Amino acid sequence: MSSSKIDLDGFLSTLKDRTPGENAFHQAVNEVIPDLIPVVNETPAYRDAAILERLTEPDRIVSFRVEWRDDDNVAHVNRGYRVQFNSAIGPYKGGLRFHPSVNQSILKFLGFEQTFKNALTGLPMGGGKGGADFDPSGRSDDEIMRFCQSFMQELHRHIGPDIDIPAGDINVGTREIGWMFGEYRRITNRFAGVLTGKGLAFGGSEMRTEATGYGVVQFLCHMLAEHNDQIDGKTIVISGAGNVATFAAELAVCNGGKVVTLSDSKGFIHDKNGLTQDKIDWVRDHKSKPGASLEAYADEFDATWHADKTPWDVACDAALPCATQNELGEDGAKALIDNGCKVIVEGANMPTTTEAKDAFREAGVLFAPGKAANAGGVAVSGLEISQNRQRRSQSRDDLAEALKDIMQDIHDNCAEAGKTGDGVDYTTGANVAGFKKVADAMCAAGIA
Ligand code: NDP
Repeated sequence: MSSSKIDLDGFLSTLKDRTPGENAFHQAVNEVIPDLIPVVNETPAYRDAAILERLTEPDRIVSFRVEWRDDDNVAHVNRGYRVQFNSAIGPYKGGLRFHPSVNQSILKFLGFEQTFKNALTGLPMGGGKGGADFDPSGRSDDEIMRFCQSFMQELHRHIGPDIDIPAGDINVGTREIGWMFGEYRRITNRFAGVLTGKGLAFGGSEMRTEATGYGVVQFLCHMLAEHNDQIDGKTIVISGAGNVATFAAELAVCNGGKVVTLSDSKGFIHDKNGLTQDKIDWVRDHKSKPGASLEAYADEFDATWHADKTPWDVACDAALPCATQNELGEDGAKALIDNGCKVIVEGANMPTTTEAKDAFREAGVLFAPGKAANAGGVAVSGLEISQNRQRRSQSRDDLAEALKDIMQDIHDNCAEAGKTGDGVDYTTGANVAGFKKVADAMCAAGIA
């Protein structure tokens, strides 16, 4: 029984000793636990059930070899993973990422965050994350398909509609989900809702592609409204040029925002005139080509290209980091603050470093964490699970309304749980609101 009060430093030092070298996971836990310790220390049931210790240890981690042949018949080996983090409130749910940076620590951080995010959606989904250290850039379609098939040859043992329902993430889109789903059916002879983000012809959901980016901007609008402001006329800096970034840009522009940047792993474009729907469509089409860089945007439109730079020096009212983890550091935060940025909404998972978050907090910049602001994608994935179970599809309009309602609820729950004397701390709000739901379910389930 762990009923004594929890001390932050002691807790974090034990965690680090148990998980040496897992820096990304330590960072994620470090950013959540300080908000939870007061709640746990005033709730004996949480302490008695060792909730924090159990919540920071995944239910299980599966790690496996993925072998495949390239187009020259050369054999390769990668490492695949599925981190099944917590299933207290529902089957594991979270994306699959294919990227050379993928390792156990990154997937544990993502699975941990996903547990809170899924709880915030109000849908019955536990937290998980997976992927492989495979780099699809420069690989042919056939090579990527063979990799997906080989990955599923092991993954199929660990997933199921009542067990674990993975989705896409970086470098895993509808195409890759289609290849993995095809392999799942070949192996098992079952047409079951074991993956989300599927194509519309085989059980996919309307609105899933747009949901994360749209949800990010809906969250931004709710934050602004909470503070008697609105998006119309605001200058917005966005990083990334993938799924989240382009759909965030689309809805921001649609609502009267002026989006002046996008970025990729090679640099960023600054378009002083602002993006338009046509320009966003061009980016989507261009970036769908293997290895394509955003640099070409500056040749196509009246814009400047900044190689190997991030967009945080560009003056704006709001910034939406939508590319990858730790892309917005202390220097970027200072530049944004100095240039008058008033609100940050995380589209990516943990794109803001701890130091940058501290700088925003100190400067009084409104800040929304990804676990709340980017939850629209997994929310619509949750609705895809329901549609698959009922063997029916909902209309785009119904799903668009459902997404709006969910993002409004997430905002309101975070604002309520994060109320401070003179405003709202959305980070604390998201941490506490997500935590309570999972912790109560863990307590109700007892301990073996
Ligand atoms: P995509 O693969 O569609 O796009 C990722 C974008 O980020 C690309 O423009 C890529 O550039 C850029 N990028 C990747 N690594 C770096 C880097 N090290 N430095 C700068 N830019 C980089 O991914 P998504 O848009 O789907 O995901 C983006 C983020 O949002 C991730 O953190 C993901 O976990 C999170 N997320 C995504 C959800 C979804 O529904 N898709 C749901 C919730 C969170 P390049 O093209 O050069 O590789």
